[in-house]
Amino acid sequence: MREQLRFEDCTALCRLPWFERDRATGLPRLLEGVADDIVDAHTHLGWSYGLARRLRLRVRTPEVQHFFPERGVPVELGHYSAWDFPPEVARRTRRESVSALWTARGARATFTVPNLLAEMDRLGVREAVVLAIEMPILSRCTEDFLEATAGADRLHVFCSVHPFAVGNRRRVARAVARGACGMKLHPATQLVAPDHPRMLRAARLAAAHRLPVLFHTGASPIAPRLTDRLCRLARFERVVAELPETTFIFGHAGIDEYRVAMALARRYPNVVLELSGQPPARIREMIQELGPERLAFGSDWPFYPIALPLAKVLIATEDEPAARAAILAGTIRRIVAPLGRRRAEGACAPAASSALPAARAGTAPAL
Ligand SMILES: [Zn+2]
Repeated sequence: MREQLRFEDCTALCRLPWFERDRATGLPRLLEGVADDIVDAHTHLGWSYGLARRLRLRVRTPEVQHFFPERGVPVELGHYSAWDFPPEVARRTRRESVSALWTARGARATFTVPNLLAEMDRLGVREAVVLAIEMPILSRCTEDFLEATAGADRLHVFCSVHPFAVGNRRRVARAVARGACGMKLHPATQLVAPDHPRMLRAARLAAAHRLPVLFHTGASPIAPRLTDRLCRLARFERVVAELPETTFIFGHAGIDEYRVAMALARRYPNVVLELSGQPPARIREMIQELGPERLAFGSDWPFYPIALPLAKVLIATEDEPAARAAILAGTIRRIVAPLGRRRAEGACAPAASSALPAARAGTAPAL
């Protein structure tokens, strides 16, 4: 069957066989029985830094203003999703990211815990990893996310440190004590290359606490071109080689350098690829080359509505239920301690096919 890859916008994804149109919102809703367990390995909440007032992350707002709009912008599932941003929407997204320094207004005010949970419910996502990103000064993203998600046991926070900030050792210890279960590092946003000694030191802090590290990898088409050299895939080799006991999750699977990401994953068993944005053909290639237990579903919400990356994974795994189960939940449950624990405790619906070996946090997956 020739698969359809172009849609007039994200609401039109309802036409795919795994979705229906939600009556209340008109947005895609996952049909029952498509997947018994989904974990989103890559989400964020609203961020504010510097002089900006703190965002109210526990309020529900009438809608989520995803950076990539749900309505009115065509999507092409055949390439990396950021290529679908019209230029003015990409400009607005960059502006919004910078204005987080002085204002708490704008789309970011809609990136809240209740809004994320509501979208997860509509799309059958049980749990999600929430990623903080810290700046060098006046930065409190980790604390804000831990506070906002306190009591929301479906959300699991990865802390962050800026490699040039002071007091990182103390910050990580405090975050872990409050429940952080991984670390997020972002070479492009933090403006520090992955092979810089300071970035290595940050990753070693994660390793000391047996935390997995999710790195942003690859040059995004909507990022300033100046930052491209900071996320080139070859520059991640040093850190994954130096810390073989630490699991490194490559966010976006290297974007358009996905083949280099695959080569690194082949060489280093402590590397796992998170698929947000990647098209079905590449996901199939990765399943063939690496196996689904090295791949994890992620959405990069609120940059994209969850339905968009989910549709790509469902297309890629159409005839492969075991691969689908591993990508949608199995891989990340094996890597992130609280996710694995809850599976082992039977907190989630039991399913024989998804009984995966529980591994210690931060250790390389047994492959
Ligand atoms: Zn992200």
